[in-house]
Amino acid sequence: AFITLEGIDGAGKTTNLEWIAEYLRSQGLEVLVTREPGGTPLGESLRALLLNQAMHIDTEALLMFAARREHIAQVIQPALDRGVWVLSDRFTDASFAYQCGGRGIAEDRLGILESWVQQGLQPDLTVLFDVDVAIAHERVRTHSDPDRFEQEQLGFFERVRSMYLHRAAQYPERFRVVRTDQSISDIRIELKRMLSVLISE
Ligand code: C5P
Ligand code: MG
Repeated sequence: AFITLEGIDGAGKTTNLEWIAEYLRSQGLEVLVTREPGGTPLGESLRALLLNQAMHIDTEALLMFAARREHIAQVIQPALDRGVWVLSDRFTDASFAYQCGGRGIAEDRLGILESWVQQGLQPDLTVLFDVDVAIAHERVRTHSDPDRFEQEQLGFFERVRSMYLHRAAQYPERFRVVRTDQSISDIRIELKRMLSVLISE
């Protein structure tokens, strides 16, 4: 199965990533953990550019999808073909949230790139870690070394979060929203429940 984790910067997605991977492994599954942008040598080089170099918003969107094309071809599809569970820290929903919601690119443009690059590949489960923007922003600002996106203003993250919630409502069959302003143990109970459903399918 293909699982993606999403959320605005500071929402707590990376904190839960390793726990999810360990939980799946404890169930006897082989798990591959990866991330976007990145996941391949070329993708990681593109990531370094994307996170540090100012560029036109179209260039940003195109590079995200270029990295994704490589990621699917080299890593995601081969793993899925072998029956490995793939857990990705961000995927295409992040492009819609950040490049359309945050930066203002038209959604139909990304729709074209999505069908070109993914050829029908979609996550089986997308966990959206959601929290108020003010809380997430406070967590990110206290980072030692914020990247180009993490330095954006509150309004940018409001738009990114709205687009994430909009997509969760648009694709309810694969999206699950987890609030991260509850206790860690309550978060894990929710995660365990949704993963169990997927495992038993
Ligand atoms: O998940 P992480 O925060 O490490 O991702 C790096 C950055 O890349 C994030 O700040 C996110 O804003 C940005 N990003 C993006 N569009 C994507 C994927 C990631 O703007 N499609
Ligand atoms: Mg970040």
